[in-house]
Amino acid sequence: MLVAIVGGGQLGLMLAGAGEELGIRCRVLDPSPDAPAGRLAELIVGAYDDRDALGRLADGADVLTYEFENVPVEAARWVGELVRVEPAARALEVAQDRLAEKTMFENIGLAVPAFVSVDSVGELVRGLASIGVPAVLKTRRLGYDGKGQVVIRDALLAEDAWRSVGEVPCILEAFVGFERELSIIAARSTTGETVFYPLVENHHREGILRLTRAPAPGITDELRSAAESHASALMTELGYVGVLAIELFQTQEGLLGNEFAPRVHNSGHWSIEGAKTSQFENHLRAIVGMPLGPAAAVGSCAMLNIVGTTPDPAAIAAVPGAYLHLYGKEPRPGRKLGHVTILAEDASGLDESIAALSAAVEER
Ligand code: AMP
Repeated sequence: MLVAIVGGGQLGLMLAGAGEELGIRCRVLDPSPDAPAGRLAELIVGAYDDRDALGRLADGADVLTYEFENVPVEAARWVGELVRVEPAARALEVAQDRLAEKTMFENIGLAVPAFVSVDSVGELVRGLASIGVPAVLKTRRLGYDGKGQVVIRDALLAEDAWRSVGEVPCILEAFVGFERELSIIAARSTTGETVFYPLVENHHREGILRLTRAPAPGITDELRSAAESHASALMTELGYVGVLAIELFQTQEGLLGNEFAPRVHNSGHWSIEGAKTSQFENHLRAIVGMPLGPAAAVGSCAMLNIVGTTPDPAAIAAVPGAYLHLYGKEPRPGRKLGHVTILAEDASGLDESIAALSAAVEER
C-alpha cells in the first residue's frame, strides 16, 4: 500500500511513522529538500502546484492526502483525476476561507462568534458599529498560528487595522471572553465508520499552541456529546474521509466554533503515546479503508510544543513519563521544532510533570 502526502513537515513525518507499523509506505511532496518527512518517506521536491511533481507523487499511489490545509484547491482537483484524494478538495476549499468555514459551522448548527464579511475599510467601520469592540479582524485566507489577524479595541483605529492585515478580504468577529479553548479530533473512514478522540484543552501563547491537556479536565457528557455531534455533522456535510480537528471556544453559553483543520492536528500529537490508536494511524486507516482503532485516552496526558529553541534531550529524559519528539528542523524563533508527550498516573502527577518540563522546553 502506498499513500501520497502533499506536504512533508512534521505531520507528514508522523504519518509516515504510523505507516511503517501498518505496512503502508508514504511518499511526500514538499518544496524543501530538508523536509522532516524525508527521514521516513520517499521525498519528491517540488511546489505544491507543480503538475509534474504532483504526477510523480500520485504515480502508483493508492490514495493521496495532505498534511496542511493551504494546498491549492486547483492542484487537489487536478491530481484527483489521477488518484483518489481524501479528504476531498471541497474540505480544503471550505477550510481555506474563514467566511465559508464560519458559514458552514452555522449551517450545521455549531454556534460561532458574531461575524461579518469585510472587503473594504468602509465595511470594517460599519462592521465595528454593529459588532462593537473589542473585535478581531482576520484575513479570510492564509492565516495560521495567529498570523493575519488583529484585535481592534478602538473603532477609531479601523484604518490602521485594515492596513495591518494587508487590505485583503477579511471577516470581523466579536472578541469572545471564552472560559477556555478546546478541540475535538475525529476520524471517519471510507465506510463511514467514525471515532472521536476525547475533547482536549489547548493553551496558546503568541498565537502558537504551547500546551494540550488530554483529556480536558471537567468535561461533562453534555459537552462531549455536543462536540461529537458537531464533528459528525461537519464530516457528513463534507463527505469527509480522514482525520479532522475542530477548534472550539468554551463559553458560559456553550461551545462556539473557531475553525477546523482538514488534517491531523497539533492538538492531537499526544495521541501517539496517550491514546489507544494515534491520530496518525487512524488517518491512514481511514483513507485506505481499514477499520479504525479505538480513540480512547490511556490515562492523563499532556503535550508541550517545543518552539524556537531545541531543549537538552537529557533534561526531558530525566522526567518520568516524558516522550520527546524532535522533527529535525533548524531552530528559528516561533518555529515548532518538536513536542513532548507526558503520561501520568493522575492529574496531580501530570501538573508536576508539566511544571518540570515547561522550564526545559522554554523558548530561549
Ligand atoms: P485562529 O487563527 O482563528 O485560530 O486564532 C488564533 C487564536 O486567537 C485563537 O486560538 C484564540 O486564542 C484567539 N482568537 C481567535 N478568534 C478569537 C475571538 N473571536 N475571540 C477571542 N479570541 C480569539
